[in-house]
Amino acid sequence: MPWLRRSGDVFLIVLIFLPLLVALPRLGGPGGPPGEWLTWVGQVSGILALAMMLLAGAVSCRVPGFDRYFGGLTRLWRIHHWLGFASFILVMIHALALGLAAVPASLDAAVATLFPPLSHGALWLGWLAWAAMVIFLAPTFDFFGQPHYQRWKHLHLVSAAALLLGLWHALLLAGEAWPWWLLGIAGLGAIAWRKGVAPQRRHAYRVEEVVPLARGVVELVLRPEHQGIRHVTGQFVYLTPLDQTLSAGRGEEHPYTIASAPSDGRLRIGIKDLGDASHALQTVTPGTRALIEGPYGEFFERRFPERDMLWLGGGIGITPFVGGARDLATGAVMEGRIHLFYLASDAVRAYYQEELVDIAERVEGFTFTQHYSREKGVMTEAYLRQYCPDFTEREIYICGPPGMNHHLNRLLLDQGIPASRIHSEVFDFL
Ligand SMILES: Cc1cc2nc3c(=O)[nH]c(=O)nc-3n(C[C@H](O)[C@H](O)[C@H](O)COP(=O)(O)OP(=O)(O)OC[C@H]3O[C@@H](n4cnc5c(N)ncnc54)[C@H](O)[C@@H]3O)c2cc1C
Repeated sequence: MPWLRRSGDVFLIVLIFLPLLVALPRLGGPGGPPGEWLTWVGQVSGILALAMMLLAGAVSCRVPGFDRYFGGLTRLWRIHHWLGFASFILVMIHALALGLAAVPASLDAAVATLFPPLSHGALWLGWLAWAAMVIFLAPTFDFFGQPHYQRWKHLHLVSAAALLLGLWHALLLAGEAWPWWLLGIAGLGAIAWRKGVAPQRRHAYRVEEVVPLARGVVELVLRPEHQGIRHVTGQFVYLTPLDQTLSAGRGEEHPYTIASAPSDGRLRIGIKDLGDASHALQTVTPGTRALIEGPYGEFFERRFPERDMLWLGGGIGITPFVGGARDLATGAVMEGRIHLFYLASDAVRAYYQEELVDIAERVEGFTFTQHYSREKGVMTEAYLRQYCPDFTEREIYICGPPGMNHHLNRLLLDQGIPASRIHSEVFDFL
């Protein structure tokens, strides 16, 4: 339902501007001498900055199902990042404009506005909030290189301090308290949910089987200990292994796509060795426990029954399509025809190929083609057209490494296919 996908955006925009709308009768409009005008800019940017910061916290709550109002968790994380970044820029404008507003009076007045005596606690709370923001945002600046994910996540806890200090600053200085209480509860409540409530609500599973697929790739088969999750194809979960013998990643949550059919009582998850935690998972032992949180995402939710589908999966990015194919194999109703291309370097790395060939032979309307880059080079328009002549007319779903996604998106857009018909998932959203 497209309206549902975007309804979260509308709600969010209303909330971003709510404190400003409430404050506008007090602030009045911009105008007058530069000093007054800059004060107005400083106040407006400060109000928007805090609203965005609190909402960045609110959208990080990760309640299963909540992400669907925003077009999936991947998109919601992008919104979270965007809000955090925009808030940081606005905080800088806030301080700069208020300082500059006092310059016409004197330079000393400008310095005193920004750095008053320590007895002006409300203002110093604002500076402390800014410092907390710098601490948790700095590692994300390209200048420092790729952040270590787990360390960066722990550092993110400082964001709770930034939210709290910013909120305190506003409650002491702003005239209107209720919008700040509302957004404050949303932002801090979301963090409390993530850290306190969500871990208690994870589903307990037991590793039933570990199927080696290729070098550095296994498929875990997990059975729920009590009630399992319900999912639709293309969704993913956060998996927290509890196997005591793991060399890394024990008790750490990582996102993985569900490669089993929704009707299967067990979860199947294909895991490629891409770092320390996923490397350790290659040796997980059957019988050990794992916690599952989710499901999240809506990769295949954007379905258009009037058009056939083209699925392009590369590397471990084949997993959402394996889930989709397994669903078809269990007799799921197919809306139109589906053509799956499996992009791999060679037959050995096309670890799900045998099963996919078998499903294609059994399910009418589902076609499977492999593409080996060692033999054929990169995927071309001619190769797609040779096996799927009407590919430009289809609804297209892509999942694979970032380089492959980029190449395929470019190739398809160059064929005149509108971007709205190309849906991509990248296994690297943070
Ligand atoms: C929506 C989604 C679905 C995915 N599905 C699969 C799948 O089906 N099979 C599979 O093998 N891999 C999948 N991945 C990738 C998998 O999550 C990473 O390979 C794994 O988290 C790497 O952790 P690591 O400690 O082994 O490696 P690291 O070296 O720590 O990380 C490697 C990269 O993975 C990312 N990453 C690490 N930890 C996390 C985390 N907790 N949350 C988000 N990103 C993280 C980082 O951006 C980092 O650049 C998926 C990722 C996403 C976002």
